[in-house]
Amino acid sequence: MKSDVYECIIVGGGAAGLYCAAKLVRTLYSGKKILILEGGSRVGAKLALTGSGRCNLTNTEIDPGKYNTDDPDKLASCLNRYGATDTIDFYENVLGVVLEQKGELVYPSTYKSSTVVDALRFFLADNGVETELKARVVSITNNDDIYEISIADGRKFTSKNVVIATGGFTYPNTGSDGKSVDMIGKLTDSTCMVPFKPALTSLTSDIPGIKGLCGIRCKGDVKIVDGEGVIKAHSKGEILFTKEGGISGICVMDVSDSAVRLIDEGDKNVKAVVNLTGRSAGVILQMIYIRRQMYYHRNCADALSGMLLRNITDFVMKKMGLKSDKMTLRELDDKQLAELSNLLCAFPIPVKGYGGTDKAQVSSGGFKLSKLDDSMQVKYRSGLYIIGEAVNCNGICGGYNLQWAWTSAALAAEGISQNV
Ligand SMILES: Cc1cc2nc3c(=O)[nH]c(=O)nc-3n(C[C@H](O)[C@H](O)[C@H](O)COP(=O)(O)OP(=O)(O)OC[C@H]3O[C@@H](n4cnc5c(N)ncnc54)[C@H](O)[C@@H]3O)c2cc1C
Repeated sequence: MKSDVYECIIVGGGAAGLYCAAKLVRTLYSGKKILILEGGSRVGAKLALTGSGRCNLTNTEIDPGKYNTDDPDKLASCLNRYGATDTIDFYENVLGVVLEQKGELVYPSTYKSSTVVDALRFFLADNGVETELKARVVSITNNDDIYEISIADGRKFTSKNVVIATGGFTYPNTGSDGKSVDMIGKLTDSTCMVPFKPALTSLTSDIPGIKGLCGIRCKGDVKIVDGEGVIKAHSKGEILFTKEGGISGICVMDVSDSAVRLIDEGDKNVKAVVNLTGRSAGVILQMIYIRRQMYYHRNCADALSGMLLRNITDFVMKKMGLKSDKMTLRELDDKQLAELSNLLCAFPIPVKGYGGTDKAQVSSGGFKLSKLDDSMQVKYRSGLYIIGEAVNCNGICGGYNLQWAWTSAALAAEGISQNV
């Protein structure tokens, strides 16, 4: 065997690729050569953006049911074998990062994602892991159990094991542009790939008046309902109205996946049914009755101003064909008051589109998890591993997606070490 053959080459120096290298350093016999080929001019570009620059790196209450994947059982088993506790232990006791919890969300105590990127970077440098930057991999071929990897400038590298950690297709300026799909397809089988789609993104609507709500935040919940009226997804939390004319915020992003798929399947009547109050319609109706008695002389917007933002009252009453500044609550009959409270608690927003690759925090789709073995090795393809967002597995906000990057990376490292 030629001496310049690497034990493992990792394609992509993002969260998953860096973590896989760090775990390999711990599990492989010393002296084994490991190389990261990163297409961009620095490693961890997307990791540096996470958690609004603070990096919510895991979640102590990870629920496998809150991921979208083609193989939920395997995912649950993976998270069981390497979960949040293992990640926290590795960061604190090996990488030397002090962590802090906000509820179930885990951050570096500096609340700076650069702390996490640097901890990985320095650890790999200390342990002799080689990194080539601006080394975009353009093809991978396999001969006699050795992989040959070609990069854009024409250089070639050989390795016994290859880990593909090229990410998804959103935030393409970080280097994860989804173009590696063809390369993976050629190396495996194109039927193993689920097309990438934006997930954790905003939703847009053309309903009149929605742009006037830009910047408003409501604490409530959102349900994604298909054209047949079936609820496809539900989440609670803060809803933010966007300048594009639509809704965003964590609870909207968490259900956006369902809306994206319905729209792309051609459903023209997808709705986001939002509770704009965080309370039940019965409670809201009682609150409106009280204000009708107390502020009978005020117009509706003014009478409800202590419990609702004027723009929200205007928007909802417009849907009823009424003007909130032109009538008092006494002029509404019981049926109209009930309709008002029902709409405030379940307002149907027709969804016409969604934030694209520049807005979506993760991609759904990727290499099918069911086509990987327990160590993320492609079935029937010895020595080829796929990890992180390149795998068809995406979770909700709150550290779920990075935890998948750490989990899949650690399992691949363990598998490679066992095969040495
Ligand atoms: C704004 C934002 C905020 C987020 N916040 C959070 C959060 O707080 N918590 C959380 O859990 N998740 C968060 N995420 C999601 C999380 O960042 C990703 O799930 C995670 O980075 C995926 O890791 P990865 O290593 O699989 O892919 P990436 O981090 O995308 O890394 C892939 C790497 O591969 C390189 N690459 C691609 N193709 C090639 C090639 N052909 N040759 C060589 N290199 C290549 C890319 O340049 C890139 O560096 C956030 C995402 C965004 C965009």
